[in-house]
Amino acid sequence: MRLRNIRGSRETIAESNYVVHEEIMFKQPGKWHEIFGNNNPIHIEIGMGKGQFIHALAKLHPEINYVGIEKYSSVLLRAIQKMDAEELPNLKFLRMDAEDITKVFGKHEVDKIYLNFSDPWPKDRHAKRRLPSREFLARYNEILKPDSRLEFKTDNRPLFDFAVEELEPAGWKAEVITYDLHADEKLVEGNIMTEYEAKFSSMGNPICKYIIYR
Ligand code: SAM
Repeated sequence: MRLRNIRGSRETIAESNYVVHEEIMFKQPGKWHEIFGNNNPIHIEIGMGKGQFIHALAKLHPEINYVGIEKYSSVLLRAIQKMDAEELPNLKFLRMDAEDITKVFGKHEVDKIYLNFSDPWPKDRHAKRRLPSREFLARYNEILKPDSRLEFKTDNRPLFDFAVEELEPAGWKAEVITYDLHADEKLVEGNIMTEYEAKFSSMGNPICKYIIYR
């Protein structure tokens, strides 16, 4: 998702209290409990887009701290606007490339990771950039607590098949795999739709999901 460059988005982000600045985190990874001012679990969404999913989750679960990560300022700006409309104390944002994720979270600091409708990077030579690739799984391995879970949803079947194939070489196991989340009565219970999920499922695309651990 890449919106046109919106004038002033970088300035708005620089001044926003909802955004934790990556340079600050680079200097002191592992300080998220201090930032939130409590010891609640930390759940993160990588590639949150405009923040519809994580904002809804944070509203439902005030007992959990959420961090939404997004690469593009113009997209993050939309998530900031949602917070202006409805501020939540348990939600913060990071504008950064997730390649540097191990520089902003400490070892095993994170209790859950969500990937939703990640960019497919269809060319083989770009496979390393896919957020469920073995390279990224190795990064998640560092920051995620040992018994914790990572959840991934997408309607992109080639990307999902790739993600499933990456599990074994990366040392992860699937607890749940579905190729049609919305048709599974049990798994869909409590499902929070992301912006892309609403869009693609309304076009009739089945939604794939896995929940993995290691
Ligand atoms: N998760 C949202 C949803 O399901 O509606 C947005 C999906 S959109 C297709 C993918 C988002 O991930 C884009 O906003 C993109 O900028 C962001 N993204 C992709 N690669 C990223 C990376 N390496 N680090 C941070 N954000 C990334």
